[in-house]
Amino acid sequence: MKCSFKKCENNPFKNHGNASYCLKHYRLMLISIGICNSNYNKRFTLGELDTIFDENMICSICNKNMIFHRLFGKAKDVVTVQHWTEKDISFMCMECNSRHGASDNPNVLNISKNLKWCPHCKIAKNKNQFHKDNTRGDGLSGICKNCKSIKMKQI
Ligand SMILES: [Zn+2]
Ligand SMILES: [Zn+2]
Ligand SMILES: [Zn+2]
Repeated sequence: MKCSFKKCENNPFKNHGNASYCLKHYRLMLISIGICNSNYNKRFTLGELDTIFDENMICSICNKNMIFHRLFGKAKDVVTVQHWTEKDISFMCMECNSRHGASDNPNVLNISKNLKWCPHCKIAKNKNQFHKDNTRGDGLSGICKNCKSIKMKQI
């Protein structure tokens, strides 16, 4: 059995519905159905992602080698997609993508490595200002401690 994507010759990695995809197309399929949150309505199809995908698997922000699945390394190295505009996307590692958070400002990615952008207060803060959260790609909560405590008080 081969990967369900077009004429891909790779061995299947995982099933999705009736299809069975190789590692690469499984990851791109998840991206295409929007498991990576997007502010934009335009979803890229698996075919479109396959066309623009760079086989070198180098993060467009930090130049590290990326992986397709956390089974083969660290979650922070998994390839993700960032939508800049309706038509323009970049592939980047989970670590870079999560530092950038929900901001559509590319400059956020130039902040120093020990900082992380909080999408709530819109400030880049030291990473120790974020609670640990092992369910997330970078091991840190999505919003800073201060914003989290404000949110808790509102509940
Ligand atoms: Zn494939
Ligand atoms: Zn990166
Ligand atoms: Zn905050």
